[in-house]
Amino acid sequence: RAKSAGGNRYEVADAEADARAITRHGLTTALPAALDRSEFFIEYQPLVHLGDGTVRGAEALVRWLHPQHGVLGPDRFIPLAERTGLIVPLGRWVLEQSVRQAREWQERHRDKLGAGPLRINVNLSPCQLTHPGLVQDTVDILECAGLEPDALCLEVTESALIGADDEVLKPLRRLAEMGVDIALDDFGTGYSNLANLRRLPVSVLKLDRSFTRGMQQFPADPVDLRIVEGIVSLAHSLDLTVTVEGVETGAQAEQLRLLGCDTAQGWYYARPGPPERLHDLALVDATG
Ligand code: C2E
Ligand code: MG
Ligand code: MG
Ligand code: MG
Repeated sequence: RAKSAGGNRYEVADAEADARAITRHGLTTALPAALDRSEFFIEYQPLVHLGDGTVRGAEALVRWLHPQHGVLGPDRFIPLAERTGLIVPLGRWVLEQSVRQAREWQERHRDKLGAGPLRINVNLSPCQLTHPGLVQDTVDILECAGLEPDALCLEVTESALIGADDEVLKPLRRLAEMGVDIALDDFGTGYSNLANLRRLPVSVLKLDRSFTRGMQQFPADPVDLRIVEGIVSLAHSLDLTVTVEGVETGAQAEQLRLLGCDTAQGWYYARPGPPERLHDLALVDATG
């Protein structure tokens, strides 16, 4: 009995794997036309200063409004776009839209924000890092929108930079010299040597959600607390700003603030949403 049940499970598993492969194939072939047809859109999630609770900027997160499958998250299609190379034009489009959006927020907020101009974070895929046009495209996009380079932060995952040689780091260094912030995204999920951080042109450490999860109860697990405390103090001693992702409760926010984290992002503050929402949130904070 157990054996035949096992057999059935395998069949089901195979069928599911087939269905997934078919969908993956369908999505992959539909990607280029989707870009032409403007089926992608961007949601923005606020970045909140833990010290005073004000919105300081937002991270741009891309979505695909697929005509049959509805809204697809980036985990469904970014890996496919990376494999086909479409990530380069798609990534450029995200950067262009986001930079323009940031400029628009800044203009609408000019006299209302005491905390400085709103900033924009944009994710970069490893394929974009090795693409020769990255620096020039970024310069052009900033200039065209009239956004200062220091209002832009490019997020690169820790795994993309582990073992990166100087050729890969060179464009990031040039961008950093221009004043663009480079963030190490999902920090803590890779296995990078902490001393390695000195070699990288990063100015922001984004602590992965797995650390935030350990802060869910109050008081949090003392070992988790000490690990985060250690990372924060190392980061600050290297002049890095610490952002935490995945903050879902007020208790987490409070713990992370006490541990010295600088900026937070998560559902506790706001889910990713349309650009007007960020505008409203920032306005409320600025006027009290
Ligand atoms: P990420 O850069 O680490 O972005 C944070 C992810 O955590 C987002 O998922 C966000 O919606 C989610 N999140 C935010 N707050 C919370 C929370 O409190 N709880 C939980 N459980 N989740 C939270 P999303 O939008 O599905 O994006 C997934 C990943 O896709 C991103 O991870 C990023 O690596 C990638 N991605 C998104 N947009 C782009 C893009 O334009 N280009 C590239 N190359 N990658 C992108
Ligand atoms: Mg990110
Ligand atoms: Mg992240
Ligand atoms: Mg993440």
